Amino acid sequence: STFMELGLNSNIIKALTDLGYENPTEIQSKSIPQVLNSKEDLKAFAQTGTGKTAAFSLPIIEQIDTKSKDTQAIILSPTRELAIQIAKNIAEFSKHIDGFRTAAVYGGSNIEEQIRKLKKGVHIVVGTPGRTVDLINRKQLKLSNVKWLVLDEADEMLNMGFKDELDKVLAVTPKEKQTLLFSATFPKEVESIAKNYMHKPVEISA
Ligand code: AMP
Repeated sequence: STFMELGLNSNIIKALTDLGYENPTEIQSKSIPQVLNSKEDLKAFAQTGTGKTAAFSLPIIEQIDTKSKDTQAIILSPTRELAIQIAKNIAEFSKHIDGFRTAAVYGGSNIEEQIRKLKKGVHIVVGTPGRTVDLINRKQLKLSNVKWLVLDEADEMLNMGFKDELDKVLAVTPKEKQTLLFSATFPKEVESIAKNYMHKPVEISA
């Protein structure tokens, strides 16, 4: 299939062509139509290198309301390097969409600068768990209008001890949202997050 057949608009297709993405990867072919066409939660078994970033980002970018300043999606990732990389990919994928805003928030970096960015209105926030919770507690990150929550590398986040932070973020997002959980492995800690926070998730794998 092609990205167009999966249901993405021409602004996004143009960006993908600029990046040299010709055909969707397997996880993209499965995830993109699923997230575009249904509100069901998604549990995806996918390793790094499979194209998972585009698999969860593209269908969310497609559905963001750029007329609103609300944060509509929060993506949690285990490390600052990964958060920066995901935000960079999203900025590239959305570069032909007017007024589209994304930002990465992570520890070890000036929080005031991140707060300034958030105040302008950011549609998709990509964050590491600790800094995300810090910003929520300071009332600088409002997640009450979130429609999509992505847990990327959920196994790594739990390995790194971020269970409490995940619980906190899950608690401040609306009950009615679509949760996308991507993980390379599914130990019992990941299964327990899926069981407690997802409703009858659709399962896919690369
Ligand atoms: P990821 O698994 O998201 O870390 O992606 C792995 C690498 O594959 C990254 O360098 C992406 O830019 C690249 N990539 C992802 N999807 C595609 C695609 N459909 N066509 C070509 N390259 C891709």
